[in-house]
Amino acid sequence: MSESLSSVVRAWFGRHGRALPWRENRSLYSTVVSEFMLQQTQVATMLPYYARWMTRFPDFESLAQAVEPEVLFQWQGLGYYSRARNLHRLARAWCTADPKPDSAAAWRRLPGVGPYTAAAVASLAFREPVPVIDGNVIRVLTRLHADPTPVRDSAGARRALAGRAEALLDPNHPGEHNEALMELGATVCLPRNPLCTSCPVLRFCTAGQRGEPERYPRRLRRVRERITRQRLWIVSEQHLLLSRVAGGSKRLAGFLELPDAASLPAKPTRESEILRRTRGISDQTITETIHQLPCSARIREATSDNERWVWAPVSDLESLVLSGPHRRWIDEILTQQSRPEFDASVRDAVPNGYPQRRSR
Ligand code: SF4
Repeated sequence: MSESLSSVVRAWFGRHGRALPWRENRSLYSTVVSEFMLQQTQVATMLPYYARWMTRFPDFESLAQAVEPEVLFQWQGLGYYSRARNLHRLARAWCTADPKPDSAAAWRRLPGVGPYTAAAVASLAFREPVPVIDGNVIRVLTRLHADPTPVRDSAGARRALAGRAEALLDPNHPGEHNEALMELGATVCLPRNPLCTSCPVLRFCTAGQRGEPERYPRRLRRVRERITRQRLWIVSEQHLLLSRVAGGSKRLAGFLELPDAASLPAKPTRESEILRRTRGISDQTITETIHQLPCSARIREATSDNERWVWAPVSDLESLVLSGPHRRWIDEILTQQSRPEFDASVRDAVPNGYPQRRSR
């Protein structure tokens, strides 16, 4: 009998799969944590965060008992904080569930669990024969079949490719099959310059044999939105002005950040600019410019509302919950300003030794 694609890719995975901590110490909890962290984050980036998280929260129970500020603090740097909040809520739901959820359908009802995570958990932890279709698998499947259907987003691609994915799945080895196919996409069937000549499934792959893998998946072009924001750097008596993100923000409610200039009586100019950074989020390119301004009487008065505004001691910034970009900008500015060539009146506002490097 000829070998199936599934058996070939699983055998390859057994020899070449990366040794990752959640594979070496496999448990339901480690599978769930790794799947949450890997949504929107690369393996290499998340590894140190995963190690730190598992030390502090080694199981569902310890995570369920933690308070949210600590959960967010431990997640700090990974971004997309709704994942941390959902994981926290999931741990609490799991601890009280009776019976415990043990299928993809039951996991879909838990906080933050979409079709992809539910399929990954159910196939890896409960051996349920459901295919996982993440971005890596979408790339592999469309190339295997040289599928010309244009892909708008992952949800549409998942629906379009569900039949093909189910047809390839070996129901006796669903977890290994899914993990092997994801690994193939992550390490061999790369978006650019895929390694077709050393690919274990080249003989099954139409696009690879035609020498045109990069034509797939075909994507519908989306227009990127450009956003610019002016932010403020105001230090008074060694306290930095920060604003609390309003509760309406799903992702960052309760986090502190550098104030938006539009929210205060401030007039930033080209001369007041001290840092400019651009980043991409989904379909947006966001350029944020940070301006250093003195603390005027009007600003002092406008920030007297303690619910929204925080004058944080510069020496305590390490312990505050700030979103990833704001933490980086603050570190950069304090590093700049602590240099000897910097204006002495400002440099002296920076405490000795700041910023201390975090241990991750
Ligand atoms: S042969 Fe090339 S295109 Fe096909 S699955 Fe392998 S790496 Fe991807």
